[in-house]
Amino acid sequence: MSVWVETDLCNGCKRCLKACPYGALEFRDEKASVLDRCTFCGACLSVCKQGALHSDIEPREVPDFSDRKGVWVFAEQRGGKLSPVTLELLGKARRLAGELGQEVCAVLPGDRVSHLCDELIRYGAQTVFLAEHECLRDYRTIAYTDVLEKLIVEYRPNILLLGATHTGRDLAPRISRRIGVGLTADCTELSIDPEEKILLQTRPAFGGNVMATIAGRYARPQMATVRPGVMEACELVGNRGQVIETPVSIREETIGTRVLERVVEKKDAVKLGEAKAIVAGGRGVGDVEGFSLLKELAVLVNGAVAGTRVAVEEGWITPDLQVGQTGQSVRPELYIACGISGAIQHRAGMADSRYIVAINKDPRAPIFQVADWGIVGDLREVVPEIIAQLKAGGSR
Ligand SMILES: Cc1cc2nc3c(=O)[nH]c(=O)nc-3n(C[C@H](O)[C@H](O)[C@H](O)COP(=O)(O)OP(=O)(O)OC[C@H]3O[C@@H](n4cnc5c(N)ncnc54)[C@H](O)[C@@H]3O)c2cc1C
Repeated sequence: MSVWVETDLCNGCKRCLKACPYGALEFRDEKASVLDRCTFCGACLSVCKQGALHSDIEPREVPDFSDRKGVWVFAEQRGGKLSPVTLELLGKARRLAGELGQEVCAVLPGDRVSHLCDELIRYGAQTVFLAEHECLRDYRTIAYTDVLEKLIVEYRPNILLLGATHTGRDLAPRISRRIGVGLTADCTELSIDPEEKILLQTRPAFGGNVMATIAGRYARPQMATVRPGVMEACELVGNRGQVIETPVSIREETIGTRVLERVVEKKDAVKLGEAKAIVAGGRGVGDVEGFSLLKELAVLVNGAVAGTRVAVEEGWITPDLQVGQTGQSVRPELYIACGISGAIQHRAGMADSRYIVAINKDPRAPIFQVADWGIVGDLREVVPEIIAQLKAGGSR
């Protein structure tokens, strides 16, 4: 494979230089020249108006995927209870399937989990593939991969969505490897390209500094994981669905792992994903005592305390309370951001909150761009004032 320049035709316009995502073109004596690092992606060819760039790369043909139907959601459950991300994904799957004119299906592996089918149907599944077996009681990579692989091969879905939970992050790459398709992890948005009718998968890239949209043209199913709390669950009234019971033939010896004990970590804190109000702090809070102030406010608004990565790194809060791209995604009714600059990586986890109040002494802090109410001031003065007013209001 090669890309070459017909130098007589090159007029030195440098369009190809701008179009090349790999910096694989340079200009010598005002003429384009292709470097060794060229990946033959072809991006330069279409922008050259002089027809000076040539290639012997055969255009890749998009296979016929007309038999690939259905937007599938992996129904993650633990101990017979569905994880919230499953219901959130069903909400998104309904919108995607609506645009494609296809069906929403949930895949539910587990042991004695049939009672969950109704809930999946209420939240949008039109078909539930129920795979029950005692070997599927606890999540184990090989057992669950086998079940999903078999169903995918048999029913040929178009799209498969999983939660970017511990389970989903383990299972999704295994499935994608087994069936030989790509996977976009940790998506924050999913949509359908109106012309090509393919899944557009948006996720932060390059350390969260840009949002990249990825499209998989050449393989099916199109696979993505989505972080909990990003999409919205939506219960449907009167949705009807069917349950297809799939036979499972797994032998314990082939699974390779056994669950010996389940250790449940005891946490006093409110689960961030479920909190209606969150008081979050960043570097501006200053120290652990500063967070005591935020806790006082959180109690008054019936909320939870959270923070930025800086607050975690400083040891002021525990890592499970970090909000953002590498922390949790939350969408409470009220998010009070105290001493937080509003870096894109933090906003990625909280920008969908219903109402955002920002307290920051820098009027140019980016957090004000997403805030519904902004208070420019020192949080050490503003927060005690809010606390005092809430207390006064409560005693009235
Ligand atoms: C790959 C990657 C992933 C990341 N993931 C995350 C993530 O998940 N979550 C996350 O939060 N960050 C994440 N980050 C870090 C992120 O880029 C920012 O560095 C971080 O969010 C900044 O935290 P901050 O707002 O607390 O601190 P700063 O950016 O330092 O902001 C402190 C703010 O406090 C204000 N302030 C100071 N004193 C006061 C005061 N007395 N009263 C009022 N305001 C005051 C200042 O004006 C300033 O705006 C990630 C970074 C990378 C590269």
